[in-house]
Amino acid sequence: MGDNLKQKVRTRFAPSPTGFMHVGNLRSALYGFLFARQNGGSFILRIEDTDLERFVPGAVDVIYSTLKQAGISFDEGPNEGGAYGPYVQSERKHLYLEYAKKLLASKHAYYCFCTKERLDSLKDEMGVARYDKHCLHLSEEEVNERLARGEKFVIRQNMPTQGTSSFHDLVFGNITIDNSELEDHILIKSDGMPTYNFANVVDDHLMAITHVIRGNEYLSSTPKYNLLYQAFGWTIPEYMHLTPIMKDETRKLSKRHGDANFDDFINKGYLSQAIVNYIALLGWSPKSTEEKFTMDELIEKFSIAGLSKSSSIFDENKMKWLNGEYIKELSFADFMKYARPFFEKSVIKDRYDYEKFGKILQSRIEIFSEIPEKVAFIDQYHFIDPIMYDNKKFKIDAGVAKEVLLEAILVLDDCQLWNEEMLHAAIKTISEKMQIKSGAVYSVLRIALSSVAVTPGGSVEIADILGKKESMRRLRQSLLWLN
Ligand code: GLU
Repeated sequence: MGDNLKQKVRTRFAPSPTGFMHVGNLRSALYGFLFARQNGGSFILRIEDTDLERFVPGAVDVIYSTLKQAGISFDEGPNEGGAYGPYVQSERKHLYLEYAKKLLASKHAYYCFCTKERLDSLKDEMGVARYDKHCLHLSEEEVNERLARGEKFVIRQNMPTQGTSSFHDLVFGNITIDNSELEDHILIKSDGMPTYNFANVVDDHLMAITHVIRGNEYLSSTPKYNLLYQAFGWTIPEYMHLTPIMKDETRKLSKRHGDANFDDFINKGYLSQAIVNYIALLGWSPKSTEEKFTMDELIEKFSIAGLSKSSSIFDENKMKWLNGEYIKELSFADFMKYARPFFEKSVIKDRYDYEKFGKILQSRIEIFSEIPEKVAFIDQYHFIDPIMYDNKKFKIDAGVAKEVLLEAILVLDDCQLWNEEMLHAAIKTISEKMQIKSGAVYSVLRIALSSVAVTPGGSVEIADILGKKESMRRLRQSLLWLN
């Protein structure tokens, strides 16, 4: 087929409105988006809300706001409109029944009136029931009578019991299964709503989806879906099934709320671009060893060949590292915009200059939620153990530290101005006068001002943040501790 005759690529994201966006769902959305954009195709949002019990009000807004933050846009969907709507399954209810009736007529489906009790009696010792085609054998008369009586029914797909079914998956290659493994699953439920098993096929066809990209929990059911396409005489789409994202070697990342959701990561202080970048790499690898990609680069580089056949482990430390790289690249103004809410939650709230801390922290944090703990030292001035001054590099010990502190107190007390420039100059004066490396003076002062061995930021930055009065108090206090 020449390129100009090729069908335009159409992919879709088909979330159920659960009220949160699991990273696995976000990854399906991302790959569908990347593949559509890369091929000049269309990306469609379809809301799969046929499970009325699971419906969460406001959940569609969560889907929209998450994808917007993630930089993923749609060409068609509930808000965008489009020629293939409506894009919400509950608004398409009548369609499914209409198509199910076609299958009833061609005997690819049948009415089933079995009660819960009967179905329960089919369960094996593991509690798993496999439907035994009981109602397939009801006479047409009986079916019509029971329907006329208003008996509750479902519509089941009539699976072949012999032979095999095969299909090609773009990630997993050729898959063949024995038809005897296929259960006559429900297409239309007793509330008149379709199951996912039916609605996905009808909608993917009616919405002209060319590539179905979804989690591989649907891989084993795909032969059943293909039988539906065949029963209708429709073209089967291309499939890309994605391997699960794991918590560790054995456990899947759970879909429960609170475990690996986009919003949770945003609240923890991740940047959306970093989350998207990291998620892109969970199940897809670029040809190079590069790890940092803008959305445009992802669109360019994404490839089916790079999709993984084995599951990927969600490594939050890796995502943190990546986030840190993104944080370093922010303009200072943007950095402060994200950082401010975390300063507000920290001990420095309304007491110190946020920007001064911001300057120290931008290159030192990986996620914004580290801010409160990173600034906490400012209030934890507790005690200095002389041993903290043992520094071989600068050849200092508590004795040298005391001398430096005495000199620093004299020099700094005389300072009229108190800013970084002046503090650097004062340290230079002290080091020259005492013939001691300036690095040693910085170290002595840093410990004296903070009382901790490791601080974000050096002595001058800390002294500047604390101001002259508090800095002098701390220098004198440390001298007492060392005596
Ligand atoms: N509603 C399904 C889910 O959220 C969609 C699966 C699919 O993409 O077909 O798992």
